[in-house]
Amino acid sequence: MIQYKTSEEVQLIKQCADILGRAHGEVAKHIKEGVKTSFLDKVAEEFIRDHNGVPSFKGYNGFPASLCISVNEVIVHGFPSDYELKDGDIISVDCGVFHQGFHSDSAYTYPIGEVSPSVLALLKATRDSLYLGIEQAVVGNRIGDIGFSIQKFVEAKGYTVVRELVGHGLGKKLHEAPEVPNYGKKGSGILLKAGMVIAIEPMINLGTRNIVQERDGWTIRTADRKPSAHYEHTVAILEDKTEVLTTHKYIEEVFKF
Ligand code: MG
Ligand code: MG
Repeated sequence: MIQYKTSEEVQLIKQCADILGRAHGEVAKHIKEGVKTSFLDKVAEEFIRDHNGVPSFKGYNGFPASLCISVNEVIVHGFPSDYELKDGDIISVDCGVFHQGFHSDSAYTYPIGEVSPSVLALLKATRDSLYLGIEQAVVGNRIGDIGFSIQKFVEAKGYTVVRELVGHGLGKKLHEAPEVPNYGKKGSGILLKAGMVIAIEPMINLGTRNIVQERDGWTIRTADRKPSAHYEHTVAILEDKTEVLTTHKYIEEVFKF
């Protein structure tokens, strides 16, 4: 069942999302060659707890960390580890914050040093597709309009859309109805109404769309081990506008590509 939010609840999620945006900004300052991904997790967790938040992911169905760190062919749900970032890698940092009874969720994929032009183009297209999806998240449209616009844009560039993992509603719970696929038919699916808060999160692959889950029970990678990109925002669908509640602005102030 979809939990429609009041404007007061949307404001609380926005405050939560601001902590999240600034936590991403702190992490972004440390994104470079030679950094252990477990250190990034520590930076995020400390920042969130220092700002009276709780990392949404830590302990979620047993997930061990505050960040999902997904490098290169890992699509989502990778664990922070002793792995040191190296020149040519891409790294998706996904984070959630719980604050004042509500969750927010956002993700960003970074290139490390010199990344091949084809992979850099994948990152840019995935990021652009997120905003195309957001444009469709308006009252009166249907959930399929979001996925349709993302899929059409990235497939025209030769990329593929992951099917098994999708965006989601969120609020008092990290994952609520409805599912928000990154593929779909125009005009299909449930009607978008004011008060819906959803995470839109395209996961776009350079090669095959097929995925493999690692034996750790979490890490999802591409079947062909080609790279995958992931960007995410939490957005509120309101009567007269759609508001992007999370922000990448603190990331983009310190990390440009
Ligand atoms: Mg999400
Ligand atoms: Mg996320």
